[in-house]
Amino acid sequence: MLIMSTENNSELLFKNSVKILTDLISFKTISGEDNNSLIDYCDEKLIKLGATSFRTFDEHGKRVNLFATLKAKNSSNKKPIILSGHTDVVPVSKGWATDPFTATIKEDKLYGRGSCDMKGFIACTLAFAPIYSRSNLDRDIHFSFTFDEETACQGAPILIEELKKRNIKNGICIIGEPTNMKIIDAHKGCYEYTTYFKGLAGHSSAPHKGVSAVEYASRYVNKLIELREKLKERSPQDSIFDPPYSTLSIGGVFGGIAHNVIADKCHVNWETRPVVKEDAIFLNQELDTYANEVLLPEMKKVFSNASIEKEIIGEIIGFDREEKSEACELISSLTGDNSRQVVSFGTEAGLFQEIGISTVVCGPGSIEQAHKIDEFIVLDELKKCLKLLEGIKEKSISN
Ligand SMILES: [Zn+2]
Repeated sequence: MLIMSTENNSELLFKNSVKILTDLISFKTISGEDNNSLIDYCDEKLIKLGATSFRTFDEHGKRVNLFATLKAKNSSNKKPIILSGHTDVVPVSKGWATDPFTATIKEDKLYGRGSCDMKGFIACTLAFAPIYSRSNLDRDIHFSFTFDEETACQGAPILIEELKKRNIKNGICIIGEPTNMKIIDAHKGCYEYTTYFKGLAGHSSAPHKGVSAVEYASRYVNKLIELREKLKERSPQDSIFDPPYSTLSIGGVFGGIAHNVIADKCHVNWETRPVVKEDAIFLNQELDTYANEVLLPEMKKVFSNASIEKEIIGEIIGFDREEKSEACELISSLTGDNSRQVVSFGTEAGLFQEIGISTVVCGPGSIEQAHKIDEFIVLDELKKCLKLLEGIKEKSISN
């Protein structure tokens, strides 16, 4: 009987993770697109290993979340572990040196859209899954693969609802976003909105007979800027973020067709990044009151069908630092890294945290390469991630 050395095994494991990452990159799962074939690919691999799984969908069944479980073989009081990643990638722009959907290895890097953000992590978990399935696990290991994280976390909330129904609310979740395997334990929220103004068109020579959507939108923007100053004043004393307060930004104002025409339509894209949930509530309340009690009555005086409608593009809740985080401590005990950092990007972490799951953001690759032309992951990062997954196995078998 041939017994392979551990070294060989880890080399095989690494090669397999590269192979799986290559496959995953070939699925063009740009946010908003159909991701069923990638999910089928992941599901099949896990089912073959004896996992059970369920899927949750968007309203058209076009985009899908997968949640698969390798059940514990021995009972213990250990919390289940959730390995979580998003399956979507951001669109590609021109200028790539290689085909973004064909993984290409050059020297110590693997290039391709999603290589670091974040199919690298998913590939590692799938490569490691056979080892989990062969082990005498004394806790469940879950695999959570969501859709459309990049567009304001549209997929994860649908999955979270299902987890609540199935009473999967007590676990440790590792979100493998690219952090160079560092421990991230907090980030601000990210709330995006578009507000639509509908007025009444008319000739510019008689402004009193029309309702200029552009002018009302401008006043709305002014209100937003005024509220931005209030958010600064509300900055928590012990804020861990930079800047320490909730921010607000106007991304665009679109409206009007000509100098001499009163614009009947205008819309404003804006976003806020709250350091605490209460800031987002405060901001929206102040803003909605202003729109409904000041602007809208004025508009309706001239045109009864005038309207102001605020569309929620996405509300990614913040990820709050916890005094004692089981998830962070687990990673620290495995990697020896005791540092805790915050990041400026949003993740699905707050959604898991909100239902009581101890959560940490930690994964292979660097955010520096995410969303960019020639995105890559340093191959060594995959090895580090596989090592972490090995550590999790050690912590998930009975002695
Ligand atoms: Zn990501």
